[in-house]
Amino acid sequence: MRGGIYPGSDRAWLEVDLEAVRHNAARLRQRAGAPLVPMIKADGYGTGAVAVARALGASFGDRGAMAPDGVDPPWALGIATLDEAESLRQAGCTSRVLCTTPLLPEALPRAAALGVRPALHRAGDIARWAEAGGEAWHLAIDTGMSRAGVRWDAVAALRAALLAHPPEGVFTHFHSADELPDTQRVQEARFRGALAELADALPSGVLRHVANSAGIAGGEGAAWDLARPGIGLYGAGPEEGLGLAPVVHLRARLVDLRRIEPRETVSYGATWTADAPRDVATVAAGYGDGYRRHLSNRGTVLVRGIPCPVVGRVTMDMTMVDVTGVGAAVGDVATLIGRDGDQCLTVNAVAEAGGLSPYELLVGLRLRVPPRYRPVADAS
Ligand SMILES: *Cc1c(COP(=O)(O)O)cnc(C)c1O
Repeated sequence: MRGGIYPGSDRAWLEVDLEAVRHNAARLRQRAGAPLVPMIKADGYGTGAVAVARALGASFGDRGAMAPDGVDPPWALGIATLDEAESLRQAGCTSRVLCTTPLLPEALPRAAALGVRPALHRAGDIARWAEAGGEAWHLAIDTGMSRAGVRWDAVAALRAALLAHPPEGVFTHFHSADELPDTQRVQEARFRGALAELADALPSGVLRHVANSAGIAGGEGAAWDLARPGIGLYGAGPEEGLGLAPVVHLRARLVDLRRIEPRETVSYGATWTADAPRDVATVAAGYGDGYRRHLSNRGTVLVRGIPCPVVGRVTMDMTMVDVTGVGAAVGDVATLIGRDGDQCLTVNAVAEAGGLSPYELLVGLRLRVPPRYRPVADAS
């Protein structure tokens, strides 16, 4: 390991293991029993949407897919904003793109121009989509999330619009497949009811999809036509039995080291006091890098493969850890999330230590740290 002066981005970085993303996609694909719409919104949950899309075998013009072993290319890529779609298109991505959040009517021409499949659920928008020259679209049905889509018990009003402009797909979204699995069955039953009610208004091969990662993990083999995993691709969220691999490894160098005496304190607010002489190292990452302040006095960081407690408050740019007995040196690479030797701080475990959502922790990691991909995603 290099000590002393560290240039630029060497202070802290986010390793993104694209092999692990592929592995996780294969596991989710197998459990879902259906082609995937990998959700790469929010820049691939903070890991880099284009790199993830390439790793999963999405089409990038004549450069072609990476043809990952054991992973079918995605049926489509799932996004939430048209800027995200535009970034993919600018990178040369020619795969199908599905936007699962509602778009304002004014945005539909742009969606059409980008070749995006929008989620629609208002008769006026469906007509407007057709006028804008839009082609395939998906009908969003709200079965209890109360966020987006037509209510499951109000779908009949769309019959004429569906007959005039048939959708390619129809979907719903689970609100608590992880925390309250019974609600998944209630939502699926409502979805089936809505599909039955629209049986004469939907095209025969309409693609039906329901499951997020938790829905895939908890699904009892209900074979829908597509599945939409997000967080599971990135090695977090519902892990049980799925055999998902960690994808992100947040590393930062030790940039300072000191011995402190009993009754001396560490960091803002003096929330941690040494009870004996302690060696305190300063890690060059803080909440400005997505290592959240909730981890103050609660997180654990690996230094030389040894778990070391975070002491005092996490600051914007630096975090202090107790490295007494570890033999740490300035320049050492600390692991704030991920694997070092045989120890692994999973996103789930770090989130839990801080009382955080693994989604928020993951999505926030790219505030400042640059990504480093393993293997390098492509030659461009
Ligand atoms: C984000 C999202 C998903 C993925 O959810 P995860 O819990 O991350 O697997 C699936 N479907 C829709 C509509 C979403 O917005």
